[in-house]
Amino acid sequence: MPEHLPFRIVESVTRSNMSKNDIRHTIPESEDKDKLTAIIPLLADYLSTEKPKGVSVFEPNSLYRKARALMTEAGNTEKDCNGFLQDIVKLYLETGLFVHSTGSLGRQYTGNIPITAVTDLVNSVVNQPSSFYEASQLPCVAEKIMAEELNRFIGFGKDRFAMIETSGGSLANLTALLAARNSHYADCSRTGMAGINGGMRPTIAMGYDVHYSLIRSVNMLGIGRENIVWLPLDGKRRIDASQVPIVLDKARKSGMDIFCMVCSAGTTSTGAVDPLAGLARIAHERGIWLHVDGCHGASLLLSDSLSHKLHGVEQADSLSWDAHKMLFVPSPCSLLFYKDRQKASLAFRESASYVKSDTGEEYGNGELNFECTKRPSIMNLWVAWAIYGRELFASRIEKLCSLCHDAWEMLREQPDFEALHEPEMNILCFRYMPEVLPEGMSDTDFQLAIREAVCRKGRYFISKAKLDDKATLRVVIMNHRHTTETFKELLDEIREVGKELTLNKSKSKNHE
Ligand SMILES: *Cc1c(COP(=O)(O)O)cnc(C)c1O
Repeated sequence: MPEHLPFRIVESVTRSNMSKNDIRHTIPESEDKDKLTAIIPLLADYLSTEKPKGVSVFEPNSLYRKARALMTEAGNTEKDCNGFLQDIVKLYLETGLFVHSTGSLGRQYTGNIPITAVTDLVNSVVNQPSSFYEASQLPCVAEKIMAEELNRFIGFGKDRFAMIETSGGSLANLTALLAARNSHYADCSRTGMAGINGGMRPTIAMGYDVHYSLIRSVNMLGIGRENIVWLPLDGKRRIDASQVPIVLDKARKSGMDIFCMVCSAGTTSTGAVDPLAGLARIAHERGIWLHVDGCHGASLLLSDSLSHKLHGVEQADSLSWDAHKMLFVPSPCSLLFYKDRQKASLAFRESASYVKSDTGEEYGNGELNFECTKRPSIMNLWVAWAIYGRELFASRIEKLCSLCHDAWEMLREQPDFEALHEPEMNILCFRYMPEVLPEGMSDTDFQLAIREAVCRKGRYFISKAKLDDKATLRVVIMNHRHTTETFKELLDEIREVGKELTLNKSKSKNHE
């Protein structure tokens, strides 16, 4: 699909209903069409850049002043239509990460499937916040369809499972843990934690590399961070299943009541996948809820050649899955699956007379979701799925994972680089280790300085991750236009930056 198609559609939308009806009040008629359609070539231009571009970081105070200067002054009615929208969009396009570019290698999101920009525009125009059927009928139907479509790859019982769409994986994780808590402590949503009898301290067990949203959730659930039972990792940064029973027994003896265990299917820092089947067995033997944080990696389930990595996921009680990561739709769009709809309904028992309607109750998921007004992001996913089917997603994901593996192999041949792990999916942590580091710089300072300097050059955006005590450089291969050449050029850029850092250090030393 040509990448500019969405913008032709934007054009037709802006030319027809929006400009005639709604926008007329705010933009003088003679100018409206030009102003609105003028942003289309800007966006088309933005998308067509071939040169790698990573990130452009404006000094925040100067960006603040620029943004301030773009505002209409009181009483100045002429200025507001004089290219303001264009200037604002231009500034928007100049700042931040260039996720469509091959230079963007640091985050878990990327340029969207182009058609989703159109559906997202339609979402904004029709403005039907989804949660309850009456107000957003097609989004509710789309949510049910996507639940059925994707659950085929998870394998929860099709008559029992439930799925909700949430604004982000962090909220999906929190919601799952709340359902786990309320399922274990039957009356907790009414009495609060103070009403739990027995004197044992309620808690959750999780691996050291869990996403921070889970640690925040523990805080929000009233458990407290210091009560987390930490599960040790093995050499591949996966929860070490052989240690888990020992740790759980010890925690129990010290008064902890572990009601939930969290596994990651793709940790954020390295993409490591915990041994789901083994951990599910341990959890279920002990009556513990198993939540799988698949925000990053659940999408691998769509690929016949990669899905084995999540073997055992069907034994989880809940699974979170970010569609705005490896399903390439605009963020946020996250999915939370439950094995058992009955248990899903325990997260929230509170309802409201003003949102419920008699029609389509079985389609609306408002009862299972914390959110009331919610962007109908599921439409983007459903439309992309309806048009392209699983193939598009599976082939992209396979390509990204295989490129990441190639990158790892390339790294192993470079004596001045060190790979920290063989990639399980499309995330790779590594270090640049030339024979001599700039004088007076620790290894950690050097990696951080490299990352900072690479990003400031503007061609590549990479991220960092701390593994144990080691600072590392981190890439996420997300862009379908990446090639092994992209990675090779990045390594050259890193070497270049390393040289510059060494040179600057010795210059500043000579000045002393
Ligand atoms: C990205 C990520 C999250 C958080 O999801 P958001 O959609 O950013 O809120 C949670 N867990 C893992 C493993 C992630 O990679």
